[in-house]
Amino acid sequence: MNSELPDEKEVRCLCPPVIHLQPFGKFSQREAQLLGKELTKRIEDIFGVELECEVHPPLPLSDTLMNDGHTRYRADKIIKSMAANANRHNIYIGLTHKDISCSVHGKKDWGVQGLSLIPGNACVASTFRVKDRRDSWKVVCHEFIHTYFTYNHCPKDDPFCLMQAAKGHPRYKGKNGLCPHCSSVLKI
Ligand SMILES: [Zn+2]
Ligand SMILES: [Zn+2]
Repeated sequence: MNSELPDEKEVRCLCPPVIHLQPFGKFSQREAQLLGKELTKRIEDIFGVELECEVHPPLPLSDTLMNDGHTRYRADKIIKSMAANANRHNIYIGLTHKDISCSVHGKKDWGVQGLSLIPGNACVASTFRVKDRRDSWKVVCHEFIHTYFTYNHCPKDDPFCLMQAAKGHPRYKGKNGLCPHCSSVLKI
């Protein structure tokens, strides 16, 4: 998911960023470390650059991060809670096992797997809707790419591209990298 991304453009950043993984609630630091290892390995496979990844101790998921009905956590509130520490060279990615939502598709509270607010340097990923935990890195990598490159969804709608829009029905099978188009415009 993303919100209000600019039109697709070629983006190349000069200085590789540090990824900060910020677990929330019952998402343990150990889990975040394992996910961070997987993520940086995959990013290296995709972009040929090994990024530094810092894993922070979990923060509580406070009630103030919930939606009005107190049924889910708001993705935008989680992102904003990390925004002060994030900048172009320090991308913060919040991690939670809880269901998260945002206002999108004309719905006030729509459940999502992840969200990036552009412009911004923080995003959030939830494992709640990910059936196979081995696919969690794909959600995190998708949001990282939105955030770091201010990149929209795959313009080719390629089913094997990590940046394909989920459109409410996320599929992870066979998504292990970028399509030729996205890999030609995204470089670290
Ligand atoms: Zn997206
Ligand atoms: Zn693509």
